[in-house]
Amino acid sequence: MSTEKREPVRSAPTADLSARFSRQRREGTSPELALRHELHRRGFRYRVQFKVDGLPRRRVDIAFPKRQLAVFVDGCFWHGCPEHCVIPKSNRDWWLWKFDVNARRDADTDRRLVDLGWSVARVWEHVDVQEAADTVEAALQG
Ligand SMILES: [Zn+2]
Repeated sequence: MSTEKREPVRSAPTADLSARFSRQRREGTSPELALRHELHRRGFRYRVQFKVDGLPRRRVDIAFPKRQLAVFVDGCFWHGCPEHCVIPKSNRDWWLWKFDVNARRDADTDRRLVDLGWSVARVWEHVDVQEAADTVEAALQG
């Protein structure tokens, strides 16, 4: 299963593309921030950018350490949301490689957390904040 691909050569600088994608993120009120506020409003207390023992170099977006629940708010573009992620036409091979790397990393993070006894909940950034909070609440109860 280890078909680790090498990074393809990029034909042109993507500064303009990067700028466009970062602008696509909703400014001011990021989906993660909105979810944090809603969870707080519902009375939940959590840690942000939490470092889990045994999981070096990675951080959990929203963590409930006592319940061992890790919540990630996945960006539609970088995490390859099936509804919103459009692969750029230029440097297509590089982007495909990049999305593959990101997907493997996410899967690896989930697997490691589960091995450490944690549960993982992932919500897309496009999901309505109430729905996202419901997902987290259900995960905390389950
Ligand atoms: Zn999406």
